[in-house]
Amino acid sequence: MNLHEYQGKQILRKYGVQVPEGIIANNSDEAVNAAKILYDMTGSGFLVIKAQVHAGGRGKGGGVKLAKNLEEVRSITHAMIGMQLVTPQTSAEGKKVSKVLVQQDIYYPGLTEIKELYMSVLLNRVSGHFMLMYSPRGGMDIEKVAEETPEEIFTEEIDPKVGLQPFQARKIAFNLGLSGQAHKEMIAFVTSLYKAYIGSDASLFEINPVVKTSDDKIFAADAKVVIDSNALFRHPEIVEMRDFLEEDAIEVEASKFSLNYVKLDGNVGCMVNGAGLAMATMDIIKLSGGEPANFLDVGGSANAKRVEEAFRIILKDPNVKAILLNIFGGIVRCDRVAQGVVDAYKNIGEINIPIIVRLQGTNAVEGKAIIDNSGLKVFAAISLDDAAKLVTQVLK
Ligand code: GDP
Ligand code: MN
Repeated sequence: MNLHEYQGKQILRKYGVQVPEGIIANNSDEAVNAAKILYDMTGSGFLVIKAQVHAGGRGKGGGVKLAKNLEEVRSITHAMIGMQLVTPQTSAEGKKVSKVLVQQDIYYPGLTEIKELYMSVLLNRVSGHFMLMYSPRGGMDIEKVAEETPEEIFTEEIDPKVGLQPFQARKIAFNLGLSGQAHKEMIAFVTSLYKAYIGSDASLFEINPVVKTSDDKIFAADAKVVIDSNALFRHPEIVEMRDFLEEDAIEVEASKFSLNYVKLDGNVGCMVNGAGLAMATMDIIKLSGGEPANFLDVGGSANAKRVEEAFRIILKDPNVKAILLNIFGGIVRCDRVAQGVVDAYKNIGEINIPIIVRLQGTNAVEGKAIIDNSGLKVFAAISLDDAAKLVTQVLK
């Protein structure tokens, strides 16, 4: 599950990672109030208005703006909320901004200079360790740093059994070129960041930039956080942070019925029982000249109700020109699934696109007979080859 920057910063703060003071606002009145509260807390200085969307690169797209006074807080927020923010990480139409973070400027009064560093914590699936990735060249695209000067990106593997060791934290501060007070601050920063990552069952914490000020403070100016969805049952307070507006509406609908649905760009909808078979089915669709419109695993217990819900979900996508249902009858019986398809077809009504049903396994022959005798625009196949040929035919 992805979090917004302001939510990631709430978690960081809880674990003792320094972040700038900031308040979330849903409109320009709230932003001005937030600004007044921040002025009371921090004294003078500029504020920064940051669009809260699940995408990075906001700085480049006009989603991070400096406000010099309350009037500018109002006008910038007014222009930002409701806009479609296009960044290098969004699609061409961008993401709609519905909230902004009003925050203390990282260049607070008295600073002569700041340095932007990079740091992330993630899982290295190859080694089975956690990994701290960091670079003295932060603020910009880390991908570009990796391409141009890979020697300026460092990694530190952390054995989850023993956690981050003090010598590792010291090495990181050293490699970042820090000394004196900044070196000490960085050790505290890394240690708390790692605790936040572990404590929230995250799969990614990416802080770009980590700021080092001329008065030797270290803090997180940005936060991209991804939480491992399988661990959310342990974090009701993080579940609360889910923002449905940021997610694909059809995917949200599918998750209500515990259907594993991922929207794709193609023209052939697919419904399959089992994730592995679903992957194979998408390959078959490609081989037969189509493009999968989605991934959809109806799960092992594909009963008539779930099949019907799955049909409704797939049909919401206007690009779908045909549907391929691929069921392996292991625990489920193919004749039941076939009956489910026929019932769903009748219940939904007005399905104007061809449906190809491939049934294999327990009672496959009986299932095919039910489809063949239904008189509906549904084609049954038993072998995957035949199903693929049918897909090619109906697309023509
Ligand atoms: P991103 O573009 O979505 O990654 O958003 P960031 O929060 O990383 O901001 C992008 C860039 O804007 C940063 O690298 C900074 O250079 C700049 N920036 C962020 N916060 C502030 C701020 O408070 N004051 C100023 N002057 N610049 C900021
Ligand atoms: Mn950033």
